[in-house]
Amino acid sequence: MKFVAFDWQDDCHLGRLDADGETIHRLDLPSEATREAGVTALIGIELPGETGPVPLSAVSLRAPVPRPRRNIFCVGKNYHEHALEFANSGFDSSAAKGAVPEAPIVFSKVPECVVPQGAAIRIDAGVSASIDYEAELAVIIGKEGRNISAGDALSHVWGYTIVNDVTARDLQGRHSQWLIGKSQDTFCPMGPWAVTADEIDLSDTAVRCWVNGALRQDSNTKLLIFDVPTIIAAISNGVTLMPGDVIATGTPAGVGIGFDPPRYLVPGDSVRIEIPGIGVLENPVESV
Ligand code: MG
Repeated sequence: MKFVAFDWQDDCHLGRLDADGETIHRLDLPSEATREAGVTALIGIELPGETGPVPLSAVSLRAPVPRPRRNIFCVGKNYHEHALEFANSGFDSSAAKGAVPEAPIVFSKVPECVVPQGAAIRIDAGVSASIDYEAELAVIIGKEGRNISAGDALSHVWGYTIVNDVTARDLQGRHSQWLIGKSQDTFCPMGPWAVTADEIDLSDTAVRCWVNGALRQDSNTKLLIFDVPTIIAAISNGVTLMPGDVIATGTPAGVGIGFDPPRYLVPGDSVRIEIPGIGVLENPVESV
C-alpha cells in the first residue's frame, strides 16, 4: 500500500493512495498525530478507517516523514561505480581508505532539511557553488531494535520512500565530516509518498534520476555494495534504531561530480527521481 501525507483544506492529513494513482482515501487520524510523524503515525496501530476520498490533484503533498524524529541516517559510496567516480572527484575526504569501503560509511542529514515533492531545492550561491543530486531508496524503520542481525533486519522495516540526498560537494570535501554539506536547508527532498515494505523487491528495483529530462543515474538496488539488511545490522550495532527512523541507502553512479567537467545543479534545473513501486520525486532548483 501507498500512504500519503498531505495538506488539504487548511489541515494536515494522512491517506491511502488508491490503485488508480489519482485518489487519496483519507484516514481517520487527528492532524496532531500526523503533523510531524507523517506516515510513521501508522506504525504500531491498526489501520484507521477511511473518511472520504480526495483527488490527488487537490492536495499539497507533505514529505512522508515531514520531520524525522532525529537525523536521517545515510550510507555513502554504496554502489561500486559511484564509489569510483566519487573517489576520483577530489572531494572525497574518505578516499584514503580506498574507493570501495570495507564497511558501510554512515553519515547523517539533519531533520530540518526535509522538503516534499515539488518543493524547491534552494541554492545559496554565497555558500556553495557545487550542488549535486543523489537519487536514493530510503528505508523507514517500523520496529525498535539494537544489534539487529542481517537475517532479522527486514522485519524491522515498515516501508520505503525516495530521498534526494542533495549535497554541497565543496563543503563535503572541506569539512571532512559530511554533515554540513549534506544538511543545507532544503537538501533532503523526500517522497512523493511512502510504500509498505511488501511493495519493493530489494533484489531488483531500478533507481533512476533525470536532470532537465536527461537521464543521469540508471541503476538497480541489486547493485548495492551493502544491501539493506547489512546496512540495518551495521547501524544498529550498539545504536538502537527506532520506529520512524529513515535510512537513505546510497546513490548510484551518474551524479554531477562524476562528469568532467562536473555538472552541478543551477537555478532553473529540475531533478526527477523514479523508483518503480514507489513513484516519482521531482523538485525544481531555485536560488535562495
Ligand atoms: Mg547519498
